[in-house]
Amino acid sequence: MIIAGIDIGNASTETALARYTNGTPQFLASGIVPTTGMKGTRQNIHGIFASLKQALTQAGLTVEEVDLIRINEAAPVIGDVAMETITETIITESTMIGHNPSTPGGLGTGVGTTVHMRNIDKIAPHESVIVIIPRDIDFETSSRIINESLARGVYVNGAIVQRDDGVLINNRLNKKIPIVDEVSLIDKVPLGMWAAIEVAAPGNVVEQLSNPYGIATVFDLSSEETKQIVPISRALIGNRSAVVIKTPAGDVKERKIPAGKITIHGKHKNAVINIDDGADVVMEAIRSVAPVEDVEGEAGTNAGGMLERVRQTMANLTDSKPNKIKIQDLLAVDTFVPQNVKGGVAEEFSMENAVGIAAMVRADKLQMDQIARELEKEVGVKVEVGGVEADMAIRGALTTPGSNKPLAIIDMGAGSTDAAIVSGSGEIHSIHLAGAGNMVTLLIASELGFDELAFPEDIKKYPLAKVETLFNIRHEDGTVEFYDKPLDASTFAKVVILTPNGMVPIPGNHSMERIRAVRREAKTKVFVTNAIRSLERVSPTGNVRDIQFVTLVGGSALDFEIPQLVTDALAQFSIVAGRANIRATEGPRNAVATGLVLAYGEEA
Ligand code: ADP
Ligand code: MG
Repeated sequence: MIIAGIDIGNASTETALARYTNGTPQFLASGIVPTTGMKGTRQNIHGIFASLKQALTQAGLTVEEVDLIRINEAAPVIGDVAMETITETIITESTMIGHNPSTPGGLGTGVGTTVHMRNIDKIAPHESVIVIIPRDIDFETSSRIINESLARGVYVNGAIVQRDDGVLINNRLNKKIPIVDEVSLIDKVPLGMWAAIEVAAPGNVVEQLSNPYGIATVFDLSSEETKQIVPISRALIGNRSAVVIKTPAGDVKERKIPAGKITIHGKHKNAVINIDDGADVVMEAIRSVAPVEDVEGEAGTNAGGMLERVRQTMANLTDSKPNKIKIQDLLAVDTFVPQNVKGGVAEEFSMENAVGIAAMVRADKLQMDQIARELEKEVGVKVEVGGVEADMAIRGALTTPGSNKPLAIIDMGAGSTDAAIVSGSGEIHSIHLAGAGNMVTLLIASELGFDELAFPEDIKKYPLAKVETLFNIRHEDGTVEFYDKPLDASTFAKVVILTPNGMVPIPGNHSMERIRAVRREAKTKVFVTNAIRSLERVSPTGNVRDIQFVTLVGGSALDFEIPQLVTDALAQFSIVAGRANIRATEGPRNAVATGLVLAYGEEA
């Protein structure tokens, strides 16, 4: 008989097609297509059909020749991610300009009262000023007036310029001063206020104003005031030039939305924690009350909003009431998100602390049977719901050459990280945890400030390079590659993603080192964390060290560095881990689909 195992995942719908003769399966072909709709919903049927069709075509078979389709019990879990900043950047009593004009003038730090260029003649000798130069005053006039003022004994300690004139002005000055130019919203710069300006040498970054104590020194701030300007200094980190202006209290109002508390309801006890305390504390609480039955956020707080949105989304997708949706696992991750800074005048961002959350909910089990019945009607083949995903995945993983019981697997997909363990005697124990490939992509997107996911997904999957000239690139590892023909001009001086379809330049001006660091950290935070906690949960003793062999399966195990990061982390527990090779042909893919076929033989 011909049997098809079909695994409906968050990202992919995979098929394994086999012929059973006298209880022995012979695999014929595989199929893989993107999952249609949200996992565990009726929309999946199109994808199921397309995936099956793909395998059938390869095997030269038709749907009519299939005797049985087995789908995974995908219903109980859906993963989703949400990201919420835990604080809001608000600046009181200060205005700042921190940006990277291409040609700031001069060098060093200057402090003084802001004064409009047209009023500088009213300034008495020995007063310190920072002069503000709007667009309608050209560089010749500006430099002449500054020179005259300096000659009069006025300490002109810096300039803020609207045009791109920093270098031109500076070249004509008798005394060099730091000049920040290209300040588009110059009318917003308050006049008559105490200001500090800093310009770093080419290739360097500001040091005094990116340090809260540096600002405190300049403005003679109290420790309470210093605390308030931390977001300013943070926002200025990495800039070549910066301006901070001290404005009177009350100019910019302060408002804060509390991060909030979450309550984790475990089977035997509850835990209440502040999201403010960070991801580690949340994860420790999850661990201490496991198994988790539901998680609730405090109303009117960021945490409450985040969890209720997850619940609402899941309710909509599964056609049920929000209060019926139980969150059964969370993965919390510390991250940063760029936030628009209030009080900024050049559209400054600061990197704010945030907690990213992947939630896993328990949905309606009947849903899957319904999909099975509908599919049966549509294709005219008997359809049954096979076993739990992770239980199937381990059966598939055991077809990896060189693997044997006892064995544990980690299935790293898009929405969830699943683990299963099979003992020497064949007993299987499994767990499904929130957070996987989608979470990695989301973290990359938010930390680099992308509001769509296509670029971040490619940044996750492929290595980077810097196009140094049109004839050479420098790879991440430092090696240089030369080309005979010139590269596309659009890639010049850009950081590019080396996709299988060619180089894709990354928008924005993040350095290659930063993108790489963000990428690797996101992978570590999600997959190393989940690998360890999932193994802890399936280990018969609760101790990761009591597991010896682990194979990695799922789409994220195809990644060029995730298996390495996980393997290295597990090596510390003396675990031998490596990527699976399902049926010696599929790599880490198709484990669940293959398992669905094999489980049929065991049951029969
Ligand atoms: P699911 O079982 O949830 O459908 P899969 O096992 O298909 O998930 O894995 C999907 C995940 O694998 C996605 O997050 C995707 O970004 C990631 N992925 C797929 N191919 C690659 C690749 N070549 N390199 C890195 N990650 C990959
Ligand atoms: Mg999967």
